[in-house]
Amino acid sequence: MSLRPLQARALRILGSDWLTPDQPLAPRTSFRIGGPALLFASPPDVDALRRALAFCADEGIPWFVMGRGTNLLVSDAGYTGMVIHMGKAWAWLRISGSAVNVGAGYPLPALARKAADAGLSGLEFAAGIPGSTGGAIAMNAGAFGGSMAQVVREVDCILPSREARTLTAAEMAFAYRHSRALAEPMILTGARLLLTPDNPDEIRRRMADFQAQRKARQPLSAWSAGSVFRNPPGDAAGRLIEAAGCKGLRQGGALVSPKHANFIVNAGGATAADVLALMREVQRRVEEAFGVRLEPEIKLLGEFDAPTPAAPAP
Ligand SMILES: Cc1cc2nc3c(=O)[nH]c(=O)nc-3n(C[C@H](O)[C@H](O)[C@H](O)COP(=O)(O)OP(=O)(O)OC[C@H]3O[C@@H](n4cnc5c(N)ncnc54)[C@H](O)[C@@H]3O)c2cc1C
Repeated sequence: MSLRPLQARALRILGSDWLTPDQPLAPRTSFRIGGPALLFASPPDVDALRRALAFCADEGIPWFVMGRGTNLLVSDAGYTGMVIHMGKAWAWLRISGSAVNVGAGYPLPALARKAADAGLSGLEFAAGIPGSTGGAIAMNAGAFGGSMAQVVREVDCILPSREARTLTAAEMAFAYRHSRALAEPMILTGARLLLTPDNPDEIRRRMADFQAQRKARQPLSAWSAGSVFRNPPGDAAGRLIEAAGCKGLRQGGALVSPKHANFIVNAGGATAADVLALMREVQRRVEEAFGVRLEPEIKLLGEFDAPTPAAPAP
């Protein structure tokens, strides 16, 4: 493999312990789609994180924070910047009474299970959301009437200036599938949550009920990124997509799930271009039928040939 000068400089300055050039991103996403990252960093601590940000600033290259890649469509051409992956090094958990101190890399389903074991309610909704805790907070992930905003008290983050900050829930400006972490570049490193004591068996029963509902309605065994579009006010994107006759619509290897119309699945060999073309066709049909413009919930990373769909409004 021949390295570009920028990659060689990155390895010289940051080392190769936690930095990889030309890292394929497809295996790191739940869609299993996308090209490589020019630089892929898994910084083990805050100091490494700061050094990675400093390198990007000095070189004038973009960076993107990635958790478990379960809400991402990565371009077929990949990403010509640095992906900063918040993985295992950031997967700590401490539970004390009703207070939970958790790292951004901790898997959300595991957090929900640990909370249940500790007799703490509030994360039942999260058991089937396959992201990282940091990604879930950034996205204000939610389901079944629950959301991260209801349990987060404070988050720790690193700003592009490399300053470490602690932000309150109010300062995070949580909204439907949105937070300040999506509006401003910042890297969430950890958070404090406040949960409610309850009977562990009752908590597990509610979690199992939510999981059963998911299994019945969603194509969980297929490669996807969950719901593709945000629900428009007062309606469900899935209902509109189904009513517009899009269930089963296919573009290359991408398919509008026959089980849940707001899921696009990679039915085998799908490219990012296939998914994006299918998203546009769904948007077109729904707008034509109902006059509603669906906005993507999934995040697009990298360059796409044609203009990408409009970013969701905060
Ligand atoms: C089968 C399936 C079911 C799903 N069900 C649901 C559901 O019920 N409800 C729901 O809300 N979502 C759902 N999702 C979507 C997804 O799991 C959530 O949005 C999740 O919170 C994303 O976390 P992640 O770590 O995978 O983030 P990624 O996909 O890696 O990133 C998503 C966004 O968060 C940002 N981000 C990630 N980590 C950080 C960090 N540490 N600091 C700052 N920004 C960060 C990224 O930059 C990006 O903008 C589902 C997905 C799948 C595949």
